Amino acid sequence: MHFSPESYRIPDKPMKPFIDPEEIWELLNRPSSDNGEVDRVIARSLGKQRLTLQEVAILINATTPEQVQQIKEAARELKRKVYGNRVVLFAPLYVGNKCLNDCTYCGFRSSNRAQLRRTLSGEELVKEIETLEENGQKRLVLVYGEHTEYHPGYIAETVRTAYSVKKGNGEIRRVNINAAPLTIEGFRIVKEAGIGTYQIFQETYHPKAYRQYHLRGKKADYDNRLTALDRAQEAGLDDVGIGALFGLYDWRFEVMALVRHTNHLEACYNVGPHTISFPRIKDASMLQMGEHYFVSDSDFSRLVAILRLAVPYTGMILTAREPAKLRDELLQFGVSQIDGGTRIELGGYADKEKRHDLNKGQFLIHDDRSLNEIIEELLAQDMLPSFCTACYRLGRTGEHFMEFSVPGFIKRFCTPNAMLTLAEYLVDYTPAETALKGWEVVERNMQQLNEMVGDEVRDRIERIKQGERDLYF
Ligand code: SAM
Ligand code: SF4
Repeated sequence: MHFSPESYRIPDKPMKPFIDPEEIWELLNRPSSDNGEVDRVIARSLGKQRLTLQEVAILINATTPEQVQQIKEAARELKRKVYGNRVVLFAPLYVGNKCLNDCTYCGFRSSNRAQLRRTLSGEELVKEIETLEENGQKRLVLVYGEHTEYHPGYIAETVRTAYSVKKGNGEIRRVNINAAPLTIEGFRIVKEAGIGTYQIFQETYHPKAYRQYHLRGKKADYDNRLTALDRAQEAGLDDVGIGALFGLYDWRFEVMALVRHTNHLEACYNVGPHTISFPRIKDASMLQMGEHYFVSDSDFSRLVAILRLAVPYTGMILTAREPAKLRDELLQFGVSQIDGGTRIELGGYADKEKRHDLNKGQFLIHDDRSLNEIIEELLAQDMLPSFCTACYRLGRTGEHFMEFSVPGFIKRFCTPNAMLTLAEYLVDYTPAETALKGWEVVERNMQQLNEMVGDEVRDRIERIKQGERDLYF
């Protein structure tokens, strides 16, 4: 796929900063958008084109209730068109909370003496993974503070452990990472361990605001963080995730900057980020934040819809930071991946008692449904829960592969794989009642497949019922 170049005052060069706050503000400070402009931008997005920064500004400046509604409806339509009813599920696993940085919003900040610091022992890590497997998880994101203990070799070792642990029919098939930025060599080391996506959130893309929140440690270097995913690409790691922490600065600026980051990666490496995350600040031990940039639920859902339209083929992740009701709503018009059964205290999966203690986690989560509860609710809404990991394991990543640019790909691969991974889950992990609902959803999705693919899927589901596992297209 080739992206048409866009020109900015700071031209895109590999490994060089690319955010120009004034330029973003000039675009945002234009007058309110008229209906004709909004219609034109939405039409381009529904044609699955990634929007330019100018076009994103038009959506942000469309603020009448009718325009906001129109944007949300368009996002809903695009979501359905691109992703169908699939929702990808994963679980975060906190490996260690030691940290040398002092980010004023984070419970792990180095100046927070109340936080209990530790790194899971090898044995504890295995126990956590076994528990996750017993719950039916197949995809993890390993999370670390920024500390000399969590060097690339250590990260690689924990990734290898995650892949090696097997419990019953359980196994982890994709390990993503959320950790501090690395050097090119460091990225090479973790790539070799077989990671899926490397996620790093810029937190705020506004350089001045960034300085206020990052008081000490390596993370205080804005440019080093901004160019981290360039180094990942240079290391051949082409599956990367970006994000902004909403509540640190004006949400409209952050949305623009996320798109600017996307087109920077496209311009330099011909591949955009695999996923975008948009965590919203939650309460944390020693949280030190003003309310000025707090993002309300209604602005939050607006920004999710705008992002969906801006980057039609990029996965969007919404975590258990947000309450169940809001997560359900945002799944409708944008979000494509959620975590389920989440515990963020160190050792929290194996030891189920350790919950909601500000001093034992990075922040508070607001959705503590079990994975099975989430799956039941998704099934009730006729969504198709997926644990699929096929593309990454078949090398279909980055520039070589952008699933949504290939016509018919979803019907041929994504939906069948979602059905097969759900079938495994229904056979191995669900109570009979959930399984019944699950098979109904599988059957309904089967009706949508063409006959040949449908026959292949039926055949594989039979094999799963007979005990085979890990069948995918
Ligand atoms: N230490 C690594 C780093 O800073 O890149 C890993 C990051 S942290 C464990 C994962 C993400 O949680 C951060 O990048 C930040 O966006 C988010 N986060 C931190 N404090 C938060 C809070 N109080 N509420 C919600 N999200 C928060
Ligand atoms: Fe450390 Fe990351 Fe928390 Fe900052 S956000 S204090 S780097 S764990």
